[in-house]
Amino acid sequence: MRRIFISDLLKENITITGPDAHHLSRVMRSKEGDHIVVADDEGRVGEYVMTGFTEDRVELELVAYIEEKTESDVEITLAQCLPKGDKLELITQKATELGINYIVPLTSDNCVVRYDAKKAKAKQEKWQKIANEAGKQCGRSCLPEVQEIQPIRKWLAEVASHRDEAAICMCYENEEQTGIKTFLRSCGQRRFMVVIGPEGGFSLEEAEYAKRLGIPSVSLGNRILRAETAAISAMTIIQYEKGDLGGRI
Ligand code: SAH
Repeated sequence: MRRIFISDLLKENITITGPDAHHLSRVMRSKEGDHIVVADDEGRVGEYVMTGFTEDRVELELVAYIEEKTESDVEITLAQCLPKGDKLELITQKATELGINYIVPLTSDNCVVRYDAKKAKAKQEKWQKIANEAGKQCGRSCLPEVQEIQPIRKWLAEVASHRDEAAICMCYENEEQTGIKTFLRSCGQRRFMVVIGPEGGFSLEEAEYAKRLGIPSVSLGNRILRAETAAISAMTIIQYEKGDLGGRI
């Protein structure tokens, strides 16, 4: 069943306006009596029936609330240094399917791409749209949030002060001691934040800066993974080790 997200709370009767209404009536050619799934701001989900169409509004009536378990118990943030081309689109889509909650694009010493303010805003909107589409497709109850692009040092310094509530690590290609498995097994938190480098990797200065802030480096194994493989693997590993990937039973 088609799914839409509303930035309000579910109630008995809902009026859909804007692009979603346009999409339902014009693109999907929905009609009275068709059913739809609606998810709200707080992850509550309900099945609705379409009861009326006007110019650019669609009226919905609640059929039943739905108990869904598509959200993991863990909260994951992926801080991804900007990769080249449209790789962040792939990462955003896959990370959404894997149940991620926040994506923070970062600029770092070895990032090749640089966006001016206007382009950065357009990119953020594009990634958010991709996350929304992926979230609808895979049946998420909550959509991930793509935050604005930030410089890596600023972000690291900010999150380092939350180390009690969130387990934060930097996936570092030169880390030889600690594997992500060992790191995760030592964490009791339910919130995870992972930093992944760009194609050129992290600079030594960035790795040392993270270390000084008390953010540990972790390895994803002995092979050098591409940035997108590293990001998708890290999300998978966390969700498998600490969250809901690996089966219902
Ligand atoms: N150009 C670098 C590799 C960068 S790979 C080099 O040749 O050494 C891009 C990013 O993916 C890295 O910055 C890191 O965050 C992550 N990554 C790739 N392989 C990894 C590994 N084996 N362990 C931990 N992180 C890894």
